[in-house]
Amino acid sequence: MKTDRSAQLFTQAKTYIPGGVNSPVRACRSVGCDPLFVHKASGCMITDVDGNEFIDFVGSWGPMILGHAHPEVVEAIQAAAVQGTSFGAPSPLEVELASMVCKAVPSMDKIRFVNSGTEATMSAIRLARGYTGRKVVVKFDGCYHGHADSFLVKAGSGVITLGIPGSPGVPEDIVKNTLSIPYNNEEILEQTLRDTNLDIACVIVEPVAGNMGVVVPNLGFLRKLRELTRELGIILIFDEVITGFRLALGGAQERFGIMPDLTCLGKIIGGGLPVGAYGGKRELMELIAPDGPVYQAGTLSGNPLAMAAGLAMLRVVQRPGFYAELEAKSDWFGAEMEKLAAAAPVPISVNRIGSLMTCFFTRGPVTDFTSAMTADAALYGQYFRHMLAGGIWLAPSQFEASFVSAAHERSHLQKALDMTESSFKKLMV
Ligand code: PMP
Repeated sequence: MKTDRSAQLFTQAKTYIPGGVNSPVRACRSVGCDPLFVHKASGCMITDVDGNEFIDFVGSWGPMILGHAHPEVVEAIQAAAVQGTSFGAPSPLEVELASMVCKAVPSMDKIRFVNSGTEATMSAIRLARGYTGRKVVVKFDGCYHGHADSFLVKAGSGVITLGIPGSPGVPEDIVKNTLSIPYNNEEILEQTLRDTNLDIACVIVEPVAGNMGVVVPNLGFLRKLRELTRELGIILIFDEVITGFRLALGGAQERFGIMPDLTCLGKIIGGGLPVGAYGGKRELMELIAPDGPVYQAGTLSGNPLAMAAGLAMLRVVQRPGFYAELEAKSDWFGAEMEKLAAAAPVPISVNRIGSLMTCFFTRGPVTDFTSAMTADAALYGQYFRHMLAGGIWLAPSQFEASFVSAAHERSHLQKALDMTESSFKKLMV
């Protein structure tokens, strides 16, 4: 595969941008490659600057549930752009998207748009603290909620990929108010939440973990979490930045029938433009400025291009049969992948729910951060490189999800399965 132009750009990029990338996992270090620079993408195909084409299973890390450059999304962005790109004043598209999202997400009465998932989670914990007057945030090991100070404690995503324990620059005084406990462990959960020495404001959870690779929760664990937080007056925050509008129109909360107090969204609701949001019960959301004293703001929040893209995307996913079709395709793909994993010369454990999947290079089962960490990241790196050489673009880390989109046809999925079969055979332990 010719990669001269990418190599040239990477050298130039490293002169001006730390690591040559604007988000660490993109550097591809843990899979032993240099990044390929993207020229364009359409449907489920991505083309690099050297003209190589790949079937994309990253989908910009989640937003591209319709595939890239979906005509209705592109048209909506173009139509919005000619009307002006930012007003610093309310505009009609915000109202339309807000009502659409609140109607779709079962627990959400009101919503505030921000510009990233990080801003959404950061603002949601501020609101939870403002409402309860308490300090401590409980999270789960291996879950990632963006890069705000409070969350960089045993976090997932790039933090695991690069093997960074926390982060310099985050004051102890801040992280002492964050407690991270194991995912899927009801006993430790109950002990922690009932500890009267802890001043717990909220628990934030990925209702399906996607940032230590995909880890599906035991329903009993999520139910217990809901019951305990309700009983103890602790705010329950679902971080549905990945799962929102992915596992169902109403996200994981709809799929599991468990309602949080606050929900964080991002990715899909922005149609591929920078958007995040947080929302929930009226009595909580009314504490936000200007209605209430909890301050949160944003120059570009509710940006008209982002709102237009999000609206166009959500209109498509709301069409009858959209999720059923995505689910059926993903079920078939996942089942075939499990067969290949079972026949592979090394132990591989496939975790999947709906269109989210991770092949862990370990015997498994992978149910939490500790078991995820038993995966052989170097072996995943080999797999990644074989797949890339065969035209399949996967997440450049063992500890991330792969995403099936509506644009993947059976033929694309079959090609990925064929390449997987031959890649598994080539793995060297
Ligand atoms: N929460 C979750 C569950 C995420 O997966 C991510 C990003 N992948 C974030 C929050 C942070 O979102 P952003 O990168 O848009 O700040």
